[in-house]
Amino acid sequence: MSLYSFMFTESSSLDQPWFVDSATGHSFTGTVVKERCDALAQGLHTLLGLGSTVSTLKSHLDCGIRDVVGVVCPNSLDFGTVVWAAHKLGCTVASINGGSTVDELKHQFSLSGTRTVVAHVDALDRVVRAAEACQIPPARIVVVSDTADLVLAPEFQTLGVSTVDALIDSGKAAILTNPSTTLEILPSPIAFLCFSSGTTGLPKAVIVPHSSIIANVIQVKGASVPAGRLAPGDRALGVIPFSHMFGLVTLVHLCPYLGIASVAFKSMPSFNVFLEIIVRLRIGHLFLAPPLVNAFVKHTATPSFDLKFLQTAMIAAAPLDADMETAFRKIGGPDFLVTQGFGMTECGGLITGLPFGSEPRAGSVGQLLSSTDAKIIDGHGKVLSPGQRGQLCVRGPQLCPGYLGNAEATQEAFDAEGFLLTGDIATMTVDGYYLIVDRLKYMIKNKGYQVSPAELEAHMLSLELVDDAGVIGRRDDRCGEVPVAFVVLSSIGRRQAETDSDSVKDAIKRSVQETKSNYKWLHDVYFVQTIPRLPSGKIIGKHLKAMLDGSNPVD
Ligand code: AMP
Repeated sequence: MSLYSFMFTESSSLDQPWFVDSATGHSFTGTVVKERCDALAQGLHTLLGLGSTVSTLKSHLDCGIRDVVGVVCPNSLDFGTVVWAAHKLGCTVASINGGSTVDELKHQFSLSGTRTVVAHVDALDRVVRAAEACQIPPARIVVVSDTADLVLAPEFQTLGVSTVDALIDSGKAAILTNPSTTLEILPSPIAFLCFSSGTTGLPKAVIVPHSSIIANVIQVKGASVPAGRLAPGDRALGVIPFSHMFGLVTLVHLCPYLGIASVAFKSMPSFNVFLEIIVRLRIGHLFLAPPLVNAFVKHTATPSFDLKFLQTAMIAAAPLDADMETAFRKIGGPDFLVTQGFGMTECGGLITGLPFGSEPRAGSVGQLLSSTDAKIIDGHGKVLSPGQRGQLCVRGPQLCPGYLGNAEATQEAFDAEGFLLTGDIATMTVDGYYLIVDRLKYMIKNKGYQVSPAELEAHMLSLELVDDAGVIGRRDDRCGEVPVAFVVLSSIGRRQAETDSDSVKDAIKRSVQETKSNYKWLHDVYFVQTIPRLPSGKIIGKHLKAMLDGSNPVD
């Protein structure tokens, strides 16, 4: 079953608002989303031929992808419209963060084999430049916005890009003229391509089948709904990016499916305004990454708002300690249910949560969701007992089958029994609660966003100032972790640093700022003689951490 069918035929809540714009309060019910989606699919089919042609890329053919539509969109009212229209046409959606830079867009378009792009108007300039570099013609760029009366800047009009609203109008007209028209399109089993570096290396495209998201929606629903906590007509906080797996499962699919409106925040307003919107729109369900939990607890504005109406909060994407979770619970009333869940893009969503009837335990990510297996193993693959720390490995119907066109990384990600090696270190209590205690993998989480050290290292190695580089995360109260770099200067870099070392550090930082999203920006650069590496060439992250902690002075 495709997500289009799942959402529109299995949900019994089409009459409820599904998406609300946090800035204007405008909303679309499920019925309106379906009408817009059907008309958009018709328009995309007629004008761009989507659904009629099939990609010839081997990597696509190997996993059943027919064609790829890149969706570059922050959280907005029409996110579901666009995604499910693409699915209706048998296309796979490359789910791309709306804030991506031109370089990041180029990488994601080419990695995913994107041939058509739906771009939010705020990202249009970047998308046009990246599309040109990837030989995607402007006629295959469709603009989505937050208002019905979008007027494109003249330079974009002359390029010949179209808009979602114009395609919806033409699709509606075609459906009215010939109401018996049905789109006979072969489905594809693959719903999304999401981007993740996994446990090592550069960001890769994770193949996400429709079945993964459907399974995860049913698993999370099974855990939350019997507790009577998620009910039609409620509202959920849509600040987690819809394009990220956590947002895709919970805010784009689970909540609308249950008739709970996802209140879409295109960007984060000031914290005061943010709280004011939560109270005014009675947003009772919060889906959060830990840095925002931190803000709720510590921000001076929080006590001025009565948040006793809050019903539930689910926190995932990065570690949150027990004290912070306990302090956060106190901002709601006595029935405010706060849970943590462990998820990972490659897992097709969440692995743990709070199954019905279980009590939350602060600091724990809860128990396994239904139909999910896990084991905790040592460095030799031996399964450990409760209480022992080891790598968390998971298996279940929500898991993704691997990475697009990267058989080697796919093979490394799974063991012989089909368990995904998460690269996270966990323990389990005797009664089945999991705690994530550390990370084995070489990956940084800034505000819940993944930062791949390998991506930043590769970038720095392309600079003439740098001979070698290693990147690690430094603990940060506000963001969780922030990236910092250790750099071995080239002879050019050394010469410049002799006269002004700060200007060399600034040049390195600036080059990252010019090409990467802001959560990847370097917070510090340290000059070192060598980067500690294993004989295989792999950077020894814990040695860099020790240098940072001062146990081995740098600079
Ligand atoms: P992503 O693929 O971006 O969702 O990142 C997945 C990674 O985020 C996991 O492998 C963990 O390292 C981290 N993560 C997700 N949820 C949690 C959690 N509840 N506690 C600690 N770390 C988490």
